[in-house]
Amino acid sequence: MTKIKSIRTRVWNWKGPTVPPTGNFCTNASDALYERGDAMTSFRFHQWLTCEVETEDGTVGIGNAALAPTVVKKAIDDWYAPLVIGHDPFDYAYLWEKMYRRTHAWGRKGIGMTAISAIDIAIWDLMGKLSGKPVFKLLGGRTKDKIPVYYSKLYAGPIEVMQAEAEEAMKNGYQAFKSRFGYGPKDGMAGMRENLKRVEAVREVIGYDKDLMLEAYMGWNLDYTRRMLPKLEKFEPRWLEEPVIAEDVHGYAELNKGPIPISGGEHEFGLIGCADLLRKGAVSVLQYDTNRVGGITAAQKINAVAEAFQIPVIPHAGQMHNYHLTMANVNCPISEYFPVFDVEVGNELFYYIFKGDPDAVDGYLQLDDDLPGLGIEITNEHMHNFEIIE
Ligand SMILES: [Mg+2]
Repeated sequence: MTKIKSIRTRVWNWKGPTVPPTGNFCTNASDALYERGDAMTSFRFHQWLTCEVETEDGTVGIGNAALAPTVVKKAIDDWYAPLVIGHDPFDYAYLWEKMYRRTHAWGRKGIGMTAISAIDIAIWDLMGKLSGKPVFKLLGGRTKDKIPVYYSKLYAGPIEVMQAEAEEAMKNGYQAFKSRFGYGPKDGMAGMRENLKRVEAVREVIGYDKDLMLEAYMGWNLDYTRRMLPKLEKFEPRWLEEPVIAEDVHGYAELNKGPIPISGGEHEFGLIGCADLLRKGAVSVLQYDTNRVGGITAAQKINAVAEAFQIPVIPHAGQMHNYHLTMANVNCPISEYFPVFDVEVGNELFYYIFKGDPDAVDGYLQLDDDLPGLGIEITNEHMHNFEIIE
């Protein structure tokens, strides 16, 4: 039995070229503020945290966090690392409870749970490497021949640009597409029409035999969404994602009674938080983020609860930990997939920090049955574009 010897945290601060977002690129929670400022700051993030958990025999498990990485680093270094060092990584469920309960007064949501998630993901990678098996095998094994993915980009912009992007994605064989809204409550009826024009334009390209998902990223509110839903119905969206802020569970539940399935949960924390969304009928599709919800240990428990409610789980974001969970669960039908792209909102950064993420081919991706752990490594290939805070 080997024990956890150390935890190394590094913040990767992107200094390389970025694609500047244009106006009305994607609605978000800051749109409700009167200050103009940079409304996109709650949405864009150009920093990432890697969390390497090493055992005495030199095996290293890799976890990560994209939320407030400098603060999460501090939380891990000062609070969480001492709680797990010296323990057997295969005591993962106990270690999870220890991290959760010892910091319960402040750590169960937000920064604390993000730190727990990063360590937990690293521990699962470690368990895979130590046992010589991919993580999905430790979670129950393969439930799919390959994982269907949906193309997640199509930020709001000029109609011809969105249509060209959708055409390109169609050519690449994707079967499902998610696009973002650019207009919200402040933009009134004229903005509503701009939103609808773009949904129509994307449908024009992809037709009605493919799935279309619509994303508001918490930039709307209950009243505005109620007015939008009947106008969107004819475009047959598979779901409308995060129409209201994450805490407005009542709003989600009200909207979810309507004709369009409502999805959400990527900003919820923990098993009990996600179970509450399910119990209240707040979502028709649960999209926890493994990086925030408590890592793979919590995600697997939530999967069981969601399955009992018969609510499909489609974890937020690409990334290997989500693919392994999706592979191992019948109730996870499809994965979100961020196409490889220049650094724009920040989701793309993991392609520059890690190597090993599978490329989608004809709308599917595959995991290797023989690759132990999560199957990713930290790469130094783009190091010249990062400032590292250690
Ligand atoms: Mg989302």
